Amino acid sequence: MRFLGIRSLRWRLVAVMCAAYIIVAIVSTAAGYSTQRTSLLRQEEGTARSSAAIAAAGAVPAFNSPTGLNRVALTNFLKSVQQAQGVSYADVLGPDRCVVVSTRPSTDHGCRPNQEITGAASEIMPNGDIMGSAPIIATGQNTVLGTATVVLSSAAMQQDLHDTLVLEILVRALGLLIFVLLSLLIARYILGPVTNLVRAATALRRGRMNTRLRATGQTELTAVAEAFNEMAAALETRIEHLSFLAHAGATFPSTLREGGDGRPLLAEFCQSIGACGAGLLGPEGPVLWWSEDGDGGCFVTAARAAQDTTTPRVSHTEEHSVMTVPVVGQWVFVTVRNGGSPFTDEEQQVLTNFAYQVGIAVDNVRLFEAQQDALQVKDQFLSIVSHELRTPLTTVKGYAQMLRRKLESDPDGQRFAGSIDAQVTRLSRLVDDLLDVTRFARGQFELTPRDMDLRPVLEDTVHRFAMIAPNHSVRLETDGQSLEGYWDRDRLEQVLNNLIGNAIKYSPSGGDVTVRAHREDGDVVVSVRDQGVGIAPEDQEHLFERFFRTGSAQNVKGMGLGLYVTERVVEAHGGKVGVESVPGEGSEFFFTLPLKKATSAATA
Ligand code: ADP
Repeated sequence: MRFLGIRSLRWRLVAVMCAAYIIVAIVSTAAGYSTQRTSLLRQEEGTARSSAAIAAAGAVPAFNSPTGLNRVALTNFLKSVQQAQGVSYADVLGPDRCVVVSTRPSTDHGCRPNQEITGAASEIMPNGDIMGSAPIIATGQNTVLGTATVVLSSAAMQQDLHDTLVLEILVRALGLLIFVLLSLLIARYILGPVTNLVRAATALRRGRMNTRLRATGQTELTAVAEAFNEMAAALETRIEHLSFLAHAGATFPSTLREGGDGRPLLAEFCQSIGACGAGLLGPEGPVLWWSEDGDGGCFVTAARAAQDTTTPRVSHTEEHSVMTVPVVGQWVFVTVRNGGSPFTDEEQQVLTNFAYQVGIAVDNVRLFEAQQDALQVKDQFLSIVSHELRTPLTTVKGYAQMLRRKLESDPDGQRFAGSIDAQVTRLSRLVDDLLDVTRFARGQFELTPRDMDLRPVLEDTVHRFAMIAPNHSVRLETDGQSLEGYWDRDRLEQVLNNLIGNAIKYSPSGGDVTVRAHREDGDVVVSVRDQGVGIAPEDQEHLFERFFRTGSAQNVKGMGLGLYVTERVVEAHGGKVGVESVPGEGSEFFFTLPLKKATSAATA
């Protein structure tokens, strides 16, 4: 809310104080002015009355002159009174109340019919001047001979009043200036703690969690400062706990998975919560680790507390505070703190969260280890089976080819032997793929690169597929550019076999299979396009995973290893594999091979 358009509390206070000062100053100046004016008027009226009385007393002899009213003497006397009393002019009125003598230059001064008085009197004239009047009484008689009047100019009094007013305004203005400065100081004194509070709150908001207020004295603001400090301390502790939990959550699982030691983190945890020991215990003692900052006393307490714990529990004795949280299986996370303070609600919350994190991490590690073991067993199995199959397959293949030659004159025999040969070739390829998979898994896969030209490899492969898949139109398109590089010929032939074989396998008879090769930005790019079943978008990202097959491939023979091997081989050359496909329209697989010799391409 704004006051007079001012936002700042300090300036509002100053404005209120100054407004009060100005009101008081105006009222007191007006009152002073009026009092002074009244007293000056009274004074002037007194002067006018006494001057008139003097003039009246001195005028009597002039009336008693034997020759009638002695005007000359009276005029002179009035002039002397005018001079002596400092009045503007003096008149003497006859009994008919008309001016008979005046110190004023003109002769006709008229009459004043209402000028009937019995004693000295005064009045304020319309122009502000003061007129004093006194009756002229014959000596010894009670006869009123006339009236003497004097007029005092009010100009001097007005000037005095004006000067005093100006002086007073100046003094008040100076006072106002001093008052503003003073109110600023007062505002600062009063609002200083509030400003500090605002600053401290802003600092907290900006993340400076150690910000505190000075809480001295015994005022209400001291209580506010203390409350603020307590709040800031609680907030700091909470943030510390939360960041510790976040840090633990991020590092714990990987530390454990890599077989690292979890105790430093536990020690850190103990320190942050002020515990003497913490760890994951089973019915028989520590399952994973126990971290203790002491002589083992905390562990004894922890082991006892871990027995028969089925729900989170806190207990407190003179010696120790203990919290137990059952996590996974029969494991219990126990935290022990040396006597003194029991765990607060917030600490219990942190302990519970941390305990669950530890439990999950430990469980994950166990699962991970189990999975690793299973994978290793599987790879070993694959490796043994593949090796054991390879030799007999080569023998069978040799015999099948011998049989074909021997049975040249027997068409059925030829057909059977050819079929055996084809099936054994397919089996050998599968075994080769399986062997490659185990090589990749063990990091034993190696390329044998040498300078070579990809063009004849492309031509031979395309030609071979055109022969064995006469129902498809398999063709090669290249521009005239050289396709020479430092690559492993056999492995590239394997990649081409996989991609062109898939293009034929997954497209209907009569479809076109187009193989293209060209140079682009320092790479050779080879693509294989078909007009087959295509691949759904959600399947495309899994195509290069081991044993992955799409739903539409279920009635086509295969193991889901060809693309996996293809990607590994291409990546070992420093290239990349990709696919673009529209279901029902066809697919285009492509891969790149760097023209520059890849330094790290020898192994994968
Ligand atoms: P396989 O062909 O032995 O199953 P691959 O690793 O060569 O294994 O291919 C994996 C899967 O990718 C295939 O099972 C098939 O579902 C899909 N796929 C591969 N190439 C094509 C293609 N040209 N058109 C449609 N689907 C394909």
